Amino acid sequence: MDESLEGVSPRIHALDLTARQFDMLAAAYGTAIDYRDLFSPQRDLPGRLRDWADKSGIRLRKLSTKARERGSRSEKVLFGLDDGYAIETVLIRRRDGMTACVSSQVGCAFACRFCASGQAGLKRNLSAGEIVEQVVRAGPKVNRIVFMGIGEPLNNYANVLDAIRILRDRRGMAFPTSGITVSTIGIPKALRSLREEHLAISLTISLHATTQEVRDRLIPGARKHALREVVAGALSWAQRHNRVVTFVYLVLPGINDTHADLQRLISMFSGRPARINLMRWNPVDSVDLAPTSDDRLGFFRQKLERAGVPVVVRDTQGRDIGAACGQLWLRDLTGIRIG
Ligand code: SF4
Repeated sequence: MDESLEGVSPRIHALDLTARQFDMLAAAYGTAIDYRDLFSPQRDLPGRLRDWADKSGIRLRKLSTKARERGSRSEKVLFGLDDGYAIETVLIRRRDGMTACVSSQVGCAFACRFCASGQAGLKRNLSAGEIVEQVVRAGPKVNRIVFMGIGEPLNNYANVLDAIRILRDRRGMAFPTSGITVSTIGIPKALRSLREEHLAISLTISLHATTQEVRDRLIPGARKHALREVVAGALSWAQRHNRVVTFVYLVLPGINDTHADLQRLISMFSGRPARINLMRWNPVDSVDLAPTSDDRLGFFRQKLERAGVPVVVRDTQGRDIGAACGQLWLRDLTGIRIG
C-alpha cells in the first residue's frame, strides 16, 4: 500500500485514505476531526467533518443511493458511481447482526455461465474507498463482510486488500478481520500472494467442477487456471494460516453431479483443511441451467459426510429480490441492467 501523499489529489475520496495519509493531510491542512470520523455511519455527516473536507478538497462520499429493495431477510441497495454505472450491495439480517455482501468490480471478466454479474464483461475495478463505502453506508449493525457481490475480488487484488486494511484499522472502523470473507474463483497467482498476507480473513473458493473440462465450460474466464493449482493454492493458504478453506460447489444436474464427480471431490478433500458448501443454482434470466433437486443435494451431502469430508448444504438469502449469489447484474444509474 502506498502510504505517501503522492497521488492524493484534491477531490480524493476520504474512504481511500489510510490513517497515515490522513495524518499527513491533517498536518498540511489542520484538523478538528479524528480518522474515525471519516467512517461516520450517519446520513447527515457532522458539520465539522464537512468543513474539514471542504477545506482539504476531500470528497467524503462517492456513492449515491439510487434504489433499495427489501426482501424477507435481505435488502439490495443500488449504488450509483461517477461514471454512469451502478453496483449492488446486499445486506442480510442474521440473529446476531448483519452481513454486507459487497461488490469489488464494475462487472466481471470471468463470465461464469451461472452468474448475472459477468454478462456485460468487466468495466473497471472499484477503488478501495468505493468498497469501504458500501460497508460504511450499511451502518453499524454490520459485523460480517463477504466479497460475494459483483466482481472477482482477487482480480482487483490491490484495492480489495487496501479496503480490508482500511476497514480493520483500529484508528478507523476497527472491523474485525475474522468477520471478513473473500470469495473467489481462485486465481493461482493471487492465492500465492494472499498466502503471504498477515490477515485473519476467511477464504471461500468457487470450485463448481472436478475436471478442468467442466470448469472451463462453467467459468470461461478462468480457462488458463489449472484446477489442481487452484485447489493446491487454496489448501496451501489454509495450511499456512492454520485455517479451513471453504470450497463452494454448485450442483448442476447433468453437468457436475455424477458419481465420478463425487469420488473426485472425496479424493481431493478427504483429510485436508477444507469444507464443502453444496449449493443450489439461483435462476438468472436467459441462462439455460436448472437447479438441482433436494434429493441430489442430500445424496452428495450424505456421501461426502460418510467419507469424512466436512460438508453443509447452503441456501443463499435474497432470492425473493434477485439478490442471491449469482443474481446481481451490473446496472446503469436508472437501474436498467447491462448485459
Ligand atoms: S461468479 Fe464471480 S467470478 Fe463468476 S462471473 Fe459472477 S462475479 Fe464474476
